[in-house]
Amino acid sequence: MDLNLLGGSVSFHRADIQSILLEHLPISTPCHLSHRLTSYTETGAEIKLEFANGTTAFCDFLIGADGLNSAVRKTLLSEGKNWTEEEAVQNSRPLWTGVHIYRYVVNAELIRRDSPNNRALSKIIMVSDLLIGTIELDSQKHPFLVFRQKQGKFCLFLDVANWDSHRGDYLQHIVAFPMRQGELINIVLCVLDPGKQGTYFDGPSVIQVLQDDVAHYFDGWEGDVQDLVKVRK
Ligand SMILES: Cc1cc2nc3c(=O)[nH]c(=O)nc-3n(C[C@H](O)[C@H](O)[C@H](O)COP(=O)(O)OP(=O)(O)OC[C@H]3O[C@@H](n4cnc5c(N)ncnc54)[C@H](O)[C@@H]3O)c2cc1C
Repeated sequence: MDLNLLGGSVSFHRADIQSILLEHLPISTPCHLSHRLTSYTETGAEIKLEFANGTTAFCDFLIGADGLNSAVRKTLLSEGKNWTEEEAVQNSRPLWTGVHIYRYVVNAELIRRDSPNNRALSKIIMVSDLLIGTIELDSQKHPFLVFRQKQGKFCLFLDVANWDSHRGDYLQHIVAFPMRQGELINIVLCVLDPGKQGTYFDGPSVIQVLQDDVAHYFDGWEGDVQDLVKVRK
């Protein structure tokens, strides 16, 4: 489907946004690079920051925007607990949604060459084997999810939060849209392993994979999807 979002949508290349933000950072706002926060402590009116390079700094407010394995979150959750460093790391680990996301950016000309009418050249599209909605039972609204497996089988979940009885099923969807006024196409392939939802993810959170390792998840899908998944540089 074409994603027509309320209020529309604007897509950006992250590197472009970062450059714009950096360019507009006033000279009065210093930016300290190569400082990896390990923990903070509140000392009276100030917060003391400790960094892996051995330096410290003080601030009035601390805004933690340090990503998936946030050191700020780890320290915050450890407050008032007698955890060892190992326990703090373990207890503040993020829970995994069970979704693997394969993402790549390609020059739009590569898509246009083989697939000149591909909808992702001009708009944001989402193609999914999921259907999500709500159903009213006993005067209560329950979420439901229908998906089509390769064999054409349909499944219905009355509680999407409970995947336990459906371990081993995979669900896929793809989102694609143009960036930089159509110069680049961002392609995001999502593959859900429902049995892994709510578990801890072991290993690195970002790795490189080969296109052929992923393309098979979308075998038999509609033409636009095949062309996005199999685009060759
Ligand atoms: C390959 C890839 C492709 C993606 N593509 C898309 C996409 O197309 N669209 C989309 O919406 N999302 C995408 N995402 C997801 C998106 O990048 C994240 O959701 C988003 O970046 C999270 O933002 P954040 O600010 O929470 O963390 P981050 O962007 O991870 O920023 C955290 C920052 O904190 C710094 N940091 C971490 N720890 C410390 C520390 N201890 N001390 C000091 N600094 C620290 C890091 O160096 C980093 O600069 C993608 C993710 C990946 C990995």
